[in-house]
Amino acid sequence: MSHHVFGPVPSRRLGRSLGIDLVPFKTCTYNCIYCQLGQTTNLTLERKEWVPFDKVMEEARKKIRSADRIDYITFSGSGEPTLHSRIGDMTRELKRMSSIPVAVLTNGSLLWQQEVQDDLLEADLVIPSLDAPDRGLFRHVNRPHPDLAFDQVVEGLVKFRERYSGKIWLEVFLLSGITGMESEVKKIADLARTVRPDLVQLITATRPAPLDFVEPVSVEDMNRFVRFFDVPTVAVPAFSPIARDVLSKAGREEILRLLERRPCTVEDIALGLGIPPAEAEKYVADLDAHGQLRSETCNGSVYFTADPT
Ligand code: SF4
Repeated sequence: MSHHVFGPVPSRRLGRSLGIDLVPFKTCTYNCIYCQLGQTTNLTLERKEWVPFDKVMEEARKKIRSADRIDYITFSGSGEPTLHSRIGDMTRELKRMSSIPVAVLTNGSLLWQQEVQDDLLEADLVIPSLDAPDRGLFRHVNRPHPDLAFDQVVEGLVKFRERYSGKIWLEVFLLSGITGMESEVKKIADLARTVRPDLVQLITATRPAPLDFVEPVSVEDMNRFVRFFDVPTVAVPAFSPIARDVLSKAGREEILRLLERRPCTVEDIALGLGIPPAEAEKYVADLDAHGQLRSETCNGSVYFTADPT
């Protein structure tokens, strides 16, 4: 059974993405108020081999051989992947295994460290976050490790851009009434100009967030905010439809593994695992009847998660 490699899962931005999880659940440098995984249980800046290199690579090799289609291999998952001290070695090893592009979904908080920059240089795509315009909102929204300074994090993004020739998509998570307002977004746009990403992606809460006061920004405001940026910028829709023509056998195990990682609608499951929606619905109904799922309604959609109890 796979423990560190999951999917391919439906990604809002990367199509069918094979996820690699490099740290134990909620080991992170931040404790963001919008984190869909809940509270950070290990708030740390310590870089080490949190999970064994050999085991992760073995799991990845098997998945790459057996999956029908993978658009990206993505370091993401249940915490901050750059906390793993061998993420650079893994990227090189994955590139020896296949020609599938490698993406790193990071909060960007450690990019001021030279060795973290070195480790990401061979990735094809780096997606760092910048959710706040100043240190006050940084503390409020990202709730970082106390030794992290906002200016240092922004400086890290700028320095990394100077060295890195791959693509950077800067992710800006906006929250209604907190950062999702004109004055704050304009300041974030000024910072984004200094980072010089290839693309800015504005996103907002579309999945159940752990705290009640975390509210999504309206579609109208998201589209209006895009115009404040003078680097290419998009508001990412809640879900981008991806190819429906990939059919594969998805079992209960695969669905549960997906739902252990993130909440999904039936449609997310169907698209992510390449099975017809009716089949996904059948599996979900069956798992639900056996008490293996929890459900929650958010913005009119029902999201399922695996119930470990
Ligand atoms: S950086 Fe990502 S994993 Fe860490 S707390 Fe924030 S949203 Fe969650």
